[in-house]
Amino acid sequence: MAYLCHNCEETFDEPKTDTQSVPYGMGNAAFEFYVCPYCNSDDYEEVTECKECGKVIDEDNNFSGLCAECVKENCNLPVTVFDFSVDIEPDAVSDFALKCLGAKGINEILRQYFQEISETDIDKFAKEQDEYIDEYIINIGEWLEAKENDA
Ligand SMILES: [Zn+2]
Ligand SMILES: [Zn+2]
Repeated sequence: MAYLCHNCEETFDEPKTDTQSVPYGMGNAAFEFYVCPYCNSDDYEEVTECKECGKVIDEDNNFSGLCAECVKENCNLPVTVFDFSVDIEPDAVSDFALKCLGAKGINEILRQYFQEISETDIDKFAKEQDEYIDEYIINIGEWLEAKENDA
């Protein structure tokens, strides 16, 4: 068990027990309270140590026993973050991909992917391609025409 004092920034294992005489009934009573052993402040909180780097972390900065730096350190590979985002929701995946790769990068990956699957899974790809062309036939026609005019 460790505690961090917000007043003097010291850490300690156990708070100091202090007694104060407070008015009670007709007389006074000894009132026991706990304070920082360094500065006697009661502005302290329970903290833990990061299980990786040993840094003292309070509740707000405790991420399953790790500090924020160690969480980042543990997923410094984009692949790790991508694996994680796959488990949350589809939007998070595309959001992550968009932030890391940009629209151009995503298009480049998809282009390579389509080239690959159109070679390995010709039937499936051809069927879906046909459906897509049916849906966007007007736009594709215009696009082809513009492309031809550009050439
Ligand atoms: Zn203190
Ligand atoms: Zn750490």
